[in-house]
Amino acid sequence: MMEMDLKEWIRRLPKVELHCHLDGSMKLATIRKFLADMRTEGADAPALPKDDGAARALLQAPADCESLERYLKCFDIPVACLQTAARLREAAYELIRDAAGENVVYMEARFAPMLSVHPGLPLDEVIESVIAGLKDGERDFGVRAQAILCGMRHMDPAINVRVAEAAGRFFGKGVCGVDLAGGEADFPPEIHRDMFKKARELGIPITIHAGECGNAENIKTAVAMGATRIGHGIAADKEPSILKLCVRERVLFEMCPTSNIQTKAVKDGASYPLRRFLDAGAAVCLNTDNRTVSGTTMSREIGLAMEKLGASREDIWEMMRRGAECAFAPEDTRRKIRVKLENFREKTLTREN
Ligand SMILES: [Zn+2]
Repeated sequence: MMEMDLKEWIRRLPKVELHCHLDGSMKLATIRKFLADMRTEGADAPALPKDDGAARALLQAPADCESLERYLKCFDIPVACLQTAARLREAAYELIRDAAGENVVYMEARFAPMLSVHPGLPLDEVIESVIAGLKDGERDFGVRAQAILCGMRHMDPAINVRVAEAAGRFFGKGVCGVDLAGGEADFPPEIHRDMFKKARELGIPITIHAGECGNAENIKTAVAMGATRIGHGIAADKEPSILKLCVRERVLFEMCPTSNIQTKAVKDGASYPLRRFLDAGAAVCLNTDNRTVSGTTMSREIGLAMEKLGASREDIWEMMRRGAECAFAPEDTRRKIRVKLENFREKTLTREN
């Protein structure tokens, strides 16, 4: 048994990340490169200050970010960059490089393909490009990676049905699931029931952002629409019956502490419900949500969970195991992650009792 200091333990822990947005995780250097390319190509490129601090202020949620709506403004420039096949592919590749750098062994990267579709770039090409980037990354860095396609809440429900149909065409070939993202307060999930009806018909696994900055009823609705995982789900903290429902149905909460603190899904870190969810027997995994917009990494989220949110090494390990168990991946892939986690546990965790 090795005694390992916490930083080293976190560094070496095999990590599973199920909730990470591609656009919100593009590095500043990558965005600068893309904007320069766009200018060279004669495309309309938004301006980004030369000073890195000032540039980050546009791309990263401020510490005193007042709402999810303000947080979502940070996506404008990254999304403007993701309008060509080449840049979509490169952005996906860079994300996997970053993930590998902190020993993420399995990643589900999500993106809203319709935000990149235009007359010169059809839906299927958008999806193919991201898949190609993930596969390039998988090959070069050894991180098993798949994509989740997001419908956007503010979009026409019929457009989101097309996203579910596209997920069907690419399912098992790089796409592993569907999601619903965007401002929750103004757009409850049931508006998009047809998207998830289509996904269920096609046998596509479903996760839905719910109870992030909206009410707990949205979690119940999301589960009723077929979600086996919930993005955030913070509002269940105030509704014991809904938390119980999720425990009973073995729904996984994809928790993203830094993001949830920034978007005011919780008042502050002290009221973050991670410990209460764990104590209630809920399945929980830890995620970055957006590496750039939230200014975070998996290692940072794990550190935060341990230092401020009451999680032990055992809890963190268990969250990774739950992530592997609930990954939208074939049993063979999930088993391989489990083996890595078990090996790590043997070496670094004392079995209590
Ligand atoms: Zn999210």
